[in-house]
Amino acid sequence: MLKDNVIRMEHGAGGEPMQALIRDLILNNITFRSAGLVGLDALDDGATISISGIIENNNINDNTTGNNPGEIVVTTDSHVIKPAFFPDSNIGRLAVSGTVNDLAVMGAAPLALTCAMIVPEGFELESFEKIIRSMNQAAEEVGVPIIAGDTKTVERNGLDSIIINTTGIGVANEVIRDCGLCAGDKVILTGTMGDHGISLLAHREGFELGTNLVSDVAPLWNMIKSVVKIRTLEGKTAISSMKDPTRGGVAGALNEIAQKSGTGIVIEQKDLPIKESVSSACEMLGIDPLEVANEGKAIIGVKAEHAEEVLAILREHEYGKDAAIIGEATDENTGKVLMRTTIGSMRYVDTPTGDLIPRIC
Ligand code: MG
Repeated sequence: MLKDNVIRMEHGAGGEPMQALIRDLILNNITFRSAGLVGLDALDDGATISISGIIENNNINDNTTGNNPGEIVVTTDSHVIKPAFFPDSNIGRLAVSGTVNDLAVMGAAPLALTCAMIVPEGFELESFEKIIRSMNQAAEEVGVPIIAGDTKTVERNGLDSIIINTTGIGVANEVIRDCGLCAGDKVILTGTMGDHGISLLAHREGFELGTNLVSDVAPLWNMIKSVVKIRTLEGKTAISSMKDPTRGGVAGALNEIAQKSGTGIVIEQKDLPIKESVSSACEMLGIDPLEVANEGKAIIGVKAEHAEEVLAILREHEYGKDAAIIGEATDENTGKVLMRTTIGSMRYVDTPTGDLIPRIC
């Protein structure tokens, strides 16, 4: 329920107040919202425009009859992270990676990006150029051109740091949804959890947590493209669902997958990859690492018979070297996530209600 008559920080925090804002004020007032298989109301990592629909609606000569021409995938994201520079990276790499990853987890190859920047007066030109170079480097890494942009400046008292919006356009032969998990599928996490959120928090608050604690921000398409092509005997992709565990962390992403797929998920605490430094920082600060944002990880649901093959391929990649099977989907406790703890008890893993750490993506 939307109780207040003004926007509050929690309306952008990923929990129930944000869901209410999206449902009551956005989806209720945008009535024309689907152009393909996945529309705005699916609230997936991106939405799609069906290529066969474009051909049909525009009387374009269709040479692809009989083949599925696939779907154009579109996603957009604004990045408000503070500070703009954080351990090992900056908002530029984040803005490109975040959008490339939302396309990647839909099974889409990135075709092009656009970039809109809002910069406060007084922002240093040297920092600005560093950010642009980082954007270019991340985009180059996955071979995606940045083809359009916009720059706006505002008075220094209207904004405290740079904001970057990126829109990504991709193409997928077979779109991977966050609602496709089936009972029996294995669930893979592609690396250690919590690195981004905890390193940013430590940097911002001035905690000394060891030198290996840096953000994991990375564009994942090169890694993900090598697993989306793995096929079942029926010729379909072996990947049943995928999501990047950003805001809301692994807990948020797993719950969304379980709810949308109508399955339960059971994860094993002992199998969750986590760095020692992140684990002890979380303990010290009383933070559940399952709820902390990641910017270079994916959660992948895969047919059980292909799980080891997918894991082996992920581990060959630098961003997937710590990948692990963390659990599986069940037909019990549908819509819920359970964790078998290291002492053998079971506990529910709930969707985080708010943002533990604001302005980290
Ligand atoms: Mg996402």
